[in-house]
Amino acid sequence: MYSIPKVQFRECYENNISENDMSSILIQNVLLEDRRVQVLIEGNRFREVAGELTVAVPEGAEVIDGSDYAIVPPFYNCHCHSAMTLLRGYADDMSLMDWLTKKIWPFEARLTEDDIYLGSRLAILEMIKSGTVFFADMYWKQRPTARAVEEMGVRANVCVFVIDTMDAKTLDGLFEELEQWHPMTSRLTKAIGPHSPYTCSASLLQRSAAVSEQLDIPLQIHVAETMREVQECREQHDGLSPICYLDHLGVLSKRVVAAHMVHLDENDVFIAAKRGIVSVYNPCSNMKLSSGIMPYGQMSRAGCRIALGTDGVASNNNLDMREEMKMASLLAKVQTSDPEMMPASETLRLATRNGAEAFGIDAGEIKTGKLADAVLVRLDDPAMLPLHNFTSNYVYAAGSGLIDTVICDGRILMRNRRVEGEDEIRNDIRKWKERH
Ligand SMILES: [Zn+2]
Repeated sequence: MYSIPKVQFRECYENNISENDMSSILIQNVLLEDRRVQVLIEGNRFREVAGELTVAVPEGAEVIDGSDYAIVPPFYNCHCHSAMTLLRGYADDMSLMDWLTKKIWPFEARLTEDDIYLGSRLAILEMIKSGTVFFADMYWKQRPTARAVEEMGVRANVCVFVIDTMDAKTLDGLFEELEQWHPMTSRLTKAIGPHSPYTCSASLLQRSAAVSEQLDIPLQIHVAETMREVQECREQHDGLSPICYLDHLGVLSKRVVAAHMVHLDENDVFIAAKRGIVSVYNPCSNMKLSSGIMPYGQMSRAGCRIALGTDGVASNNNLDMREEMKMASLLAKVQTSDPEMMPASETLRLATRNGAEAFGIDAGEIKTGKLADAVLVRLDDPAMLPLHNFTSNYVYAAGSGLIDTVICDGRILMRNRRVEGEDEIRNDIRKWKERH
């Protein structure tokens, strides 16, 4: 069982002003787990979720007939590089180092801020279409992604990315920018993002941890993704694994969100649980790059906080969290030779509530008083029939095309599978491709 410490990042709450105070939505007779409920959203919160409402429905509320739908929390993608949608299908089926040095890094070096903005818009469109309302983003420019988030109505935690290849002046500028950056909306929060223990010096890692503590913001980092990373870390740091090395430096805390966490020994798992860090399981990326498998069974038994992420499109090749859920569960079962490992309800919680909690967002549950994030899933598709168990069908059988409606912070971002402005994004991407 998980024991999830309460994390409250100041940033989330200081700026927690709804842009949507006036509007209300009533979803009637919708399936929630195994019962039919009425869902009333006022402003950006669930005013009431109940079999029968006890409060009056405000005049002018938008009414949705929920009879053909189930309502579930949307996905919270806890590790992503959104602008990498531009690299979809650009380089596949290569070894990690060849892939990075010969294809990905040279391509990324040519990307402008406008390109990153466009790639982020495509990513957000793809995420909304597959039921995701939040992503934790790491990329070398954050402002273009932040702008896309603010415009398109989703939530994100966008990090200021730092790495040893930057000179001292650039790093000083980035830390200063991080302190002075105040996102325009409560949907957007900031983080510090040292790339990894193998690409950041001890002092850069410690400086990042200090700013994370001082500003009370998350620290996003890649940890123990490949066997080679672990071997080199042990060679360079007195036999310490990446997790032990980070702990030795005093970097680990409940603010740390560590992607991958594939190659861990028993002591690493113990430390991850003890420090309360969030480990992000990225099964598709880890399989595609042949990195390995996160020891999910061992970690969940130890009480580690675990959430789910897609990683970037260059190594996935999509941002579909529903697909990620199925892969996560199946891979955990294969790894442990235990068919009872990571059952559907636990997998769904990993992709929804655990992700929201990891970033201090008061959402991830369809419950009175929570922030109003939700998706409506069609129940009439063959893959959803018969309806013995909604969660089983949703995790193992459905495609994300069954997600009909997406609501974030009390605002409808997709209805009948249409997202405002989607044709313009498609056209912009086609034009961009003609130039590249
Ligand atoms: Zn990554």
